[in-house]
This record gives sequence, structure tokens and C-alpha cells, in this order.
Amino acid sequence: MTPLEIKDYTARLERAAITLMRMSVFRKPDDLARRYSLPLPVVRYWWRHTDEKRESCDPIKPTPAEVKRIRRAGQALESWEKTKRNRPVCGVPLSSGKKCKTVVAIRPPEGWEMGCLATRCRMHGGLARRLIKPRKASISAEDER
Ligand SMILES: [Zn+2]
Repeated sequence: MTPLEIKDYTARLERAAITLMRMSVFRKPDDLARRYSLPLPVVRYWWRHTDEKRESCDPIKPTPAEVKRIRRAGQALESWEKTKRNRPVCGVPLSSGKKCKTVVAIRPPEGWEMGCLATRCRMHGGLARRLIKPRKASISAEDER
């Protein structure tokens, strides 16, 4: 996934989570986070940044249209477990001439606005708060010598 695709994907997760919260499928963001193994602070943040209003949807007897929306949103959120397991590889060129084969890092909750997945593994700055430019850093390191 490209950084843009990761951002889009994260936005889809957010929309799905808000749908399920609005429709009262989950009463608390924490319940939703646990059900889909999403980071608690992220789901709380998503919900806090809405008006936190619920739709008048009867959870006992939803209409067919509501059933469809709930199913769609549930499927979107279920995809997260799979995405976590099948992350792309980091791909940073190593001094051996090979490329790093470690999977990219899952961003910490405060980084989810940039997307749920980083573009690099933990060792290569995947957890950095800002995007780092490895090439520039290595040039300046050589200059210092
Ligand atoms: Zn790496």
C-alpha cells in the first residue's frame, strides 16, 4: 500500500467505526476497539471528534437498509486484523545490497492521522513521528567525518 492508500484505508476504518457507533451497534468506543482489535485511544479519538450523536436505529429490529450498512461497516473493520497480519515489507536498501524484508510498523495511536501503517519497519524509522529522509541524513553524517 502507498502512503495515500494507507491514509484512505484508515479513513475507511474511521467511517465504519463511526457508523457502528452512531447506529448504537456498540455503546462505547472501547467495546468497538476490543471487538476489532483496534487501538483504544484511536477509536476514542474518532468518536470524540464527532458530535457523538446516535441515529434513531432500533438495534433489535433494524431495517434491511440498516442491516446492510451495519454489515458493510463490520466487514471494513474486520479487515484490520488481516491488514495487520499481511503488512507490506519495509524495503530500505541495506549495506549488503539487499532490501529490508521486515514488515512495516503499525503506527502508535497518535500517528494514526498519517495512517495506521508506517512506510518503514521499526528499525528504519517506521515509528518516527515525522517522516524522515534517510538519504539526507546519511549524506550529512558523511560530511561530518
Ligand atoms: Zn526496515
